[in-house]
Amino acid sequence: MSRRRLVYEGKAKNLYEGPEPGTLVQYFKDDATAFNKQKHAIIDGKGVLNNRISEFLMTQLNAIGIRTHFIRRINMREQLIRAVEIIPLEVVVRNVAAGSLVKKLGLTQGEALPRPIVEFYYKDDKLGDPMVSEEHIAAFNWADQQDMDDMISMALRVNDFLSGLFMGVGLKLVDFKIEFGHIWDGDNQVVLLADEISPDSMRLWDVKTGRKLDKDVFRENLGDLVEAYAEVARRLGVMPENVAAGEDEGGPKLVH
Ligand code: 5GP
Repeated sequence: MSRRRLVYEGKAKNLYEGPEPGTLVQYFKDDATAFNKQKHAIIDGKGVLNNRISEFLMTQLNAIGIRTHFIRRINMREQLIRAVEIIPLEVVVRNVAAGSLVKKLGLTQGEALPRPIVEFYYKDDKLGDPMVSEEHIAAFNWADQQDMDDMISMALRVNDFLSGLFMGVGLKLVDFKIEFGHIWDGDNQVVLLADEISPDSMRLWDVKTGRKLDKDVFRENLGDLVEAYAEVARRLGVMPENVAAGEDEGGPKLVH
């Protein structure tokens, strides 16, 4: 565990002061939570896998011109990131009906949606992250119109790119949640993709068998979560060598 100053303690990640101004160290824990923390477990090796998978996906997204907070992976559980001012919204993109949308609209799980749907949720654990409209976001000044336009267009580009990437390894990207932050670039405020992109925050189904390889395995008690995440990492070509032990293995090594 890092001895740096703790800046923020989250459910699955901690943030520590970074080595330079404007940077933070993002530490991936093994904690798994669901249903607004009503279900909690420590799952050995989950943090190591999410660190690797998120590094890989953020690096790929950077390469196609999507600005992210990711700088580099430091070790098995930590990555160096740019400090951003987090926009207090969760942005969800859906391709296939699942989860809360099925309940809300009475759809059938697995039904293809007419087109990708972008939704906003207000980040507030006490309220259970309620869904909000652009009207709410503008009225309460959580983000301005330019930010919303940027978040929607970036979310759809992320969706297009990741849907193709996962399809290439036999996985259907059903839906995912991302978060954004602001940084100052000279006099301009720009929006960056922040947080993480991992099987904790997306639904991934095997194209052939329909097997779930994401946090629904934990939510619905479907089996071994680490085995599922390790399968995703294996397919992406980023399987760490020692998942459960979580030992350092000496600096970043991009595999693909
Ligand atoms: P749903 O609204 O169907 O529960 O979730 C839609 C998608 O966003 C799923 O892939 C789910 O994992 C992700 N998601 C929604 N809320 C959260 C959250 O608070 N944390 C994480 N990690 N993922 C979330």
